[in-house]
Amino acid sequence: MIEIENVRKSFGQLEVLKGINLTVEKGEVLTIIGGSGSGKSTLLTCINGLETIDGGRIVVDGTDVHAKGTDLNKLRRKLGIVFQQFNAFPHLTVLENVMLAPVKVLGQSKAEAEAMAVRQLTHVGLGDKLKVYPSRMSGGQQQRMAIARALAMSPAYMLFDEVTSALDPQLVGEVLDTLRMLASEGMTMICVTHEMKFAREVSDRVAFFHKGVMAEIAPPEALFGAPKDADLKTFLAATH
Ligand code: ADP
Ligand code: MG
Repeated sequence: MIEIENVRKSFGQLEVLKGINLTVEKGEVLTIIGGSGSGKSTLLTCINGLETIDGGRIVVDGTDVHAKGTDLNKLRRKLGIVFQQFNAFPHLTVLENVMLAPVKVLGQSKAEAEAMAVRQLTHVGLGDKLKVYPSRMSGGQQQRMAIARALAMSPAYMLFDEVTSALDPQLVGEVLDTLRMLASEGMTMICVTHEMKFAREVSDRVAFFHKGVMAEIAPPEALFGAPKDADLKTFLAATH
């Protein structure tokens, strides 16, 4: 599980995370909603050790992410992360893009990595795109490739940061369907999203971030149906 204890993070004078407490259990789907600049992306990058923290701690399966001596490369293999924009290697095929990290980082044989890549690409519905170059695919297909690439590392956790925000509206659904599929398979996931309908349907719990504070966390029925926090009420009213 992922344990986040009183985590503080500042960029210069700006305190971006003001003491976040949160535990994500194995198999749980947590979505994070909140306005721009509320600290959502920063929390994800702190969880996988891309960013340092200024206080508190984050423990993933017993490993303190920011402790001296923590092997961040080893830790990051557990934490697949997919961002809004995926920079595929344009000169490599979809299959080669997905095989790259398992070969380079995990030291898998090409045959082993290829078998896994084919499996994951098929899983996200791209089994017929193996030999295609990324530029020939839609944004939705590229995001599904990014998800397959993360899954090829056999992560225990998946972190998704607004993976549909850069997509044309008609392509959002196919990517959300892929996330729904992963959730139904029991993947432990933290999804930062603006898709309220998706958050309502897929989440075990939804967390609302506001100005670096986790202002409310609750199961979706409660959070959307009977929000308590005043800023959450305002936020939800503005998203309809
Ligand atoms: P969100 O994902 O909720 O929109 P972020 O976590 O990206 O918010 O950012 C929170 C705040 O931290 C914003 O004010 C943003 O400008 C600032 N910030 C994020 N990353 C950096 C950085 N690397 N350096 C300086 N400021 C940053
Ligand atoms: Mg963000």
